[in-house]
Amino acid sequence: MTFAELGLIEPLLRTLAALDYQTPSPVQAAAIPAVLKGRDLMAAAQTGTGKTAGFALPLLQRLTLEGPPVASNAVRVLVLVPTRELAEQVHESFRRYGQDLPLRSYAVYGGVSINPQMMKLRKGIDVLVATPGRLLDLYRQNAVKFGQLQALVLDEADRMLDLGFARELDELFCALPRKRQTLLFSATFSDPIRTLAGELLRDPLSVEVSPRNAAASSVRQWLVPVDKKRKGELFLHLLLRHRWGQVLAFAKTRKGVDQLVTELQDAGIAADSIHGDKPQPTRLRALQRFKDGDVQVLVATDVAARGLDIDDLPLVVNVDLPIVAEDYVHRIGRTGRAGASGEALSLVCADEVQLLAAIETLTRQVLKRVDEPGFEPDHRVPATDARGQVLKKPKKPKKPKDVPAGKPGARLGSWIDGEKPKVRAVRKSPGLSRKPGKGA
Ligand code: AMP
Repeated sequence: MTFAELGLIEPLLRTLAALDYQTPSPVQAAAIPAVLKGRDLMAAAQTGTGKTAGFALPLLQRLTLEGPPVASNAVRVLVLVPTRELAEQVHESFRRYGQDLPLRSYAVYGGVSINPQMMKLRKGIDVLVATPGRLLDLYRQNAVKFGQLQALVLDEADRMLDLGFARELDELFCALPRKRQTLLFSATFSDPIRTLAGELLRDPLSVEVSPRNAAASSVRQWLVPVDKKRKGELFLHLLLRHRWGQVLAFAKTRKGVDQLVTELQDAGIAADSIHGDKPQPTRLRALQRFKDGDVQVLVATDVAARGLDIDDLPLVVNVDLPIVAEDYVHRIGRTGRAGASGEALSLVCADEVQLLAAIETLTRQVLKRVDEPGFEPDHRVPATDARGQVLKKPKKPKKPKDVPAGKPGARLGSWIDGEKPKVRAVRKSPGLSRKPGKGA
């Protein structure tokens, strides 16, 4: 299968050749012909599958071949995304794929001044990538008009609902023309997502490639049990002992992120952070420094890290487990992309056993446990099974035991290749969705 066989026009094919995209990914092979024909789409796909090109390429083509030029303040394709980072990333993809086409694209999101965005929208924008809250502000101030809208894309729709954007979305949908093409992308299909799809999509083509499974199945996943207060120390110990290269680490809170970064910097490690307390330019700078190799460890919260396009990352470390099990799949999707092998390590304390059980239920596997000598927890992490059961209740703290040095089989990297876990798509959310504030 080639991109030419999918029906893409010459300028796009030239760009793809220049980018060295040789073969369409599964989601692209399914989505591109359908979107070119004008069909609505409901696709199960997450970052790392090539989904962005799956909708950007055919929409750019339709914008080039169909419809009048964009009028003042008008928008022809609207892409709604949950976070600023994803907005930047999707916009960059449109810019890259459409570099030889006479189209304008732009991204708007909160946390930065609205005035330059209003100015930019005056000329009209062919492809506008937006977070729902800021777009609604712009719409209420008449800075953006939807009369020319040809297509709406909801990217990471599950995440938008998780982040509490349902009301903003409803208000926006009411403002959009009914006659339009709608594409919905979501990593998981929970009941609220299905309801949303039922309301928005007309006779959609349902694309359910197993990209996230494919991405995740090449990722070695394991955990090290540890007491909560020793997580930073263990991270540093493992980093030095195993001479890790670049690591993307996740912590639960902004405070936790800052604390780990400080501990690492105190030890002379080049570390930086991405979280919601930081202004957007600072976050983008941290990401760029990480991509440039100037930073060895980038520590992030889930929301801030959402949608970051970091390829070929060999190692993701969950210093804390995510509150929402689906975020585990998103996190480990950062590694093992495009057939590369990757590792995802979680440092798990006793308090997190329920989160662990939820992750193991979602991914239908029990994570391999590897004790790190000298870090065996006083507060034991109870055993779990893949049905989400915690097999034994946590015991009261015991006096620490002396640890026999060099316990056999207790080393990182003792993973047996034949035991690679499989992460299977789960269509129904296990009911763990939460409604945190926007911009953790
Ligand atoms: P996405 O899932 O859209 O975030 O894309 C993940 C990464 O895969 C991005 O860095 C893309 O540039 C890259 N990519 C997308 N499609 C292809 C393709 N057909 N061949 C090679 N790389 C691709």
